Amino acid sequence: MTPATAHMPIAPICRVVLFAFLVAVLSPPAVAQERLIPNLSPKAEERVLFVAGNTLFSLHHETAHALIDQLDLPVLGREEDAADAYATLAMLPEPPTPLADALLLAAADGWLFYAETAPIDQLAYIDAHPLDEQRFYRTACLIVGSDIEGFFDYGLDVGLTVERIEECPALWQDTRRGWERLLAPHRRAGNPPAASLFPATWSDPPAQLSHEIGFLRSSGLVANATRKTSDAYTMPQPVMVQFRDCGEPAAFYDPDTPSITLCYELLAEFGNLFDQAVGVE
Ligand SMILES: [Zn+2]
Repeated sequence: MTPATAHMPIAPICRVVLFAFLVAVLSPPAVAQERLIPNLSPKAEERVLFVAGNTLFSLHHETAHALIDQLDLPVLGREEDAADAYATLAMLPEPPTPLADALLLAAADGWLFYAETAPIDQLAYIDAHPLDEQRFYRTACLIVGSDIEGFFDYGLDVGLTVERIEECPALWQDTRRGWERLLAPHRRAGNPPAASLFPATWSDPPAQLSHEIGFLRSSGLVANATRKTSDAYTMPQPVMVQFRDCGEPAAFYDPDTPSITLCYELLAEFGNLFDQAVGVE
């Protein structure tokens, strides 16, 4: 995934509405009493969840590229759209949870924040990825489509029209059915292997990411995501997942290794995005 590929100013009110929603999700009394990260302030906790949500979306997005390559899945249309859709589906658990909702909405917000950081240029149209705004609105429509009653107001708040909202359930159903149909022949029939096919390794993280990495590891979010994929599908060979320094903010699937890499520089960029959009404490 190339994180920042296209940019266009977004009305400030949109961001305020989004974060008001995110804060509301994260801060009902039951959640406030049972803090996820007790040693951090609410704003610092929100920042950690923002980084975690965007990191998990990136992990699932790259997992989609790995599945397409390893299982030789056909792709009709833009593979980047398919990978974003897979990530969105993977982050919508049944039954839903407030934490899962918050992480996915934070990931969607990430596209808007990227869109605010630089003006759009010609390269954005040439790039393999859709524009950041398009990635946001398509992700938002999938979220709404997954539960139109629960997310109807969210759809309006983020700027989807009523007409578009009404189309979102069909988009979500078509997307889910497409991925399920393609993956069905590869579903594991017997017991899962003893060793994960997607083991995650972590090199020493930079100090600035200690809270974020600590949460991603201690919460089991990354381990659960990789185990779920590994348990579900018969893969021709293991795909390693690495969290490490790369020298640039990136996340990518390498078919030669094969491996998925999430660069610490990308996680740091997510944190900087949050600081720019919401303000430093
Ligand atoms: Zn991609």
